[in-house]
Amino acid sequence: MARWQNNYQEKRKTGMNYSPAIGLEIHVELNTKSKMFCSCLNDPDERHPNINVCPICLGHPGTLPVINQEAVRKVIETGLSLNCQIPKYSKFDRKNYFYPDLPKGYQVSQLYMPFCKEGFLKIDNKKIRIREVHLEEDTGKLVHPEGVDYSLVDFNRAGIPLMELVTEPDITSAKEAKDFAQELQLILRYLDVSAADMEKGQLRVEANISVGKSQKLGTKVEIKNLNSFRAVKQGIDHEIKRQTEILESGKKVIQETRGWNEVKGVTVGQREKEEAHDYRYFPEPDLPPLDTSKLLINEIKAEIPELPQQKRERFKKEYEIEDKEIETFVSNKGLGDYFEKVMSELRNWVKAIENKKKISREEFLKLTKFCLNYIITDLQGLLKRKSVTRALVKGQEEDLSSSSADKDFLITPENFAEFAALIYEGKISSKIAKMVLLEMFKTGADPSHIIREKGLTQITDTNEIKKIIKEVISKNPKAIEDFRKGKENAFQYLIGQIMAKTGGKANPQIVRDILNRTLTKIK
Ligand SMILES: [Zn+2]
Repeated sequence: MARWQNNYQEKRKTGMNYSPAIGLEIHVELNTKSKMFCSCLNDPDERHPNINVCPICLGHPGTLPVINQEAVRKVIETGLSLNCQIPKYSKFDRKNYFYPDLPKGYQVSQLYMPFCKEGFLKIDNKKIRIREVHLEEDTGKLVHPEGVDYSLVDFNRAGIPLMELVTEPDITSAKEAKDFAQELQLILRYLDVSAADMEKGQLRVEANISVGKSQKLGTKVEIKNLNSFRAVKQGIDHEIKRQTEILESGKKVIQETRGWNEVKGVTVGQREKEEAHDYRYFPEPDLPPLDTSKLLINEIKAEIPELPQQKRERFKKEYEIEDKEIETFVSNKGLGDYFEKVMSELRNWVKAIENKKKISREEFLKLTKFCLNYIITDLQGLLKRKSVTRALVKGQEEDLSSSSADKDFLITPENFAEFAALIYEGKISSKIAKMVLLEMFKTGADPSHIIREKGLTQITDTNEIKKIIKEVISKNPKAIEDFRKGKENAFQYLIGQIMAKTGGKANPQIVRDILNRTLTKIK
């Protein structure tokens, strides 16, 4: 049997003869100051309807649009970050259709000459090609009050700059689609072009899914209403299963648009899919074509900050920490920046303590590990607890990575570095450290101030420690007996007793030394 026949047989047996091809269309609301073609405020948090409106975004006759330069720059910046080509010329087109949330009866978009094309984003080292990134305007919002037979329209959102990114059908699983969307969200946040919050509709994912035999593409079905990363994963998984079952039963998949019903966990047919020609696209006569100069592109390029993938690579090289820890710092950019500031301060502290001009690589890595534990475990623990409490009070969930959660975070990197240096130097025990950190978290005071104020100064007076050790030994004959018999944990037990008696304030190293000497004598 020829090898291809063999493979085919193999695939049939394992049920692998149908494979999915998934393309994504992702809409992103840009966080520009004003709307796309007028000077109305672009404020996603405006709660009162129809506040940020004017004759232009309401589509009154005789008004003329003006292109928002900030929006164009943000789209090009995104395109460059996604390895796209930026064509010299681009222009806007009208997409004609009627819907009550579209006051003009058309949407200004880009069909023929988008700002960015032919890029890619790597997910797990696989290139997902990006067909284009273009700019358009958002529609208004329909509100359907309960118990009445009419709907209301809010035009605050009408005309907000909306960026659309279209991938090639290179994605082959629901997980890969979810990973793509998540990585894109991170990039958008790093670039500060959008808050990209899915719950607020600032990042909207639609998936085109077709299941076909081997390399051939099947009939395309579009899935809408994927309002969370979980919905992206579950909705696509469900649709792949649905189409595979249809094909396996010998029927045909219809080309259509389906919506994901999160509650029922199924996709539901909505309408047959329109083609581009249904919209009678034509060049927008009120806006000039744009000429993107090399100069502008270079200027925008220079503004692109370090992106998530670059940060992963740098963290790995610079700090040699685990992938999981790196991901914590990459996905929570604020925490990552904080860690780096603390590390740089801590280096100075340690140099001062050890009276050195430079610390060795080995020492630096040791310091990194040490600092990392306090930031990832202790500090993040406190932050999470606070965020949960606040969410309970407010009755809503709060994203730790969002800047609003960090606003009332009081510990400066300098103070945190001093705190770490105190532990590193052995000036405070881990028990005292926890108390100090909690106090710093509450008040933002510097650690040495807290230690003085709360009487947490370490006991280093050997006579005082000897006295306490004597007392503990006389009260614990059983432990002494066990120690004589060679039970190692008896020693730990005694240390614990001594530390408890001093409220954790005794210098652990001195306690250890004296206890060791005393017990050896008894032995
Ligand atoms: Zn307006």
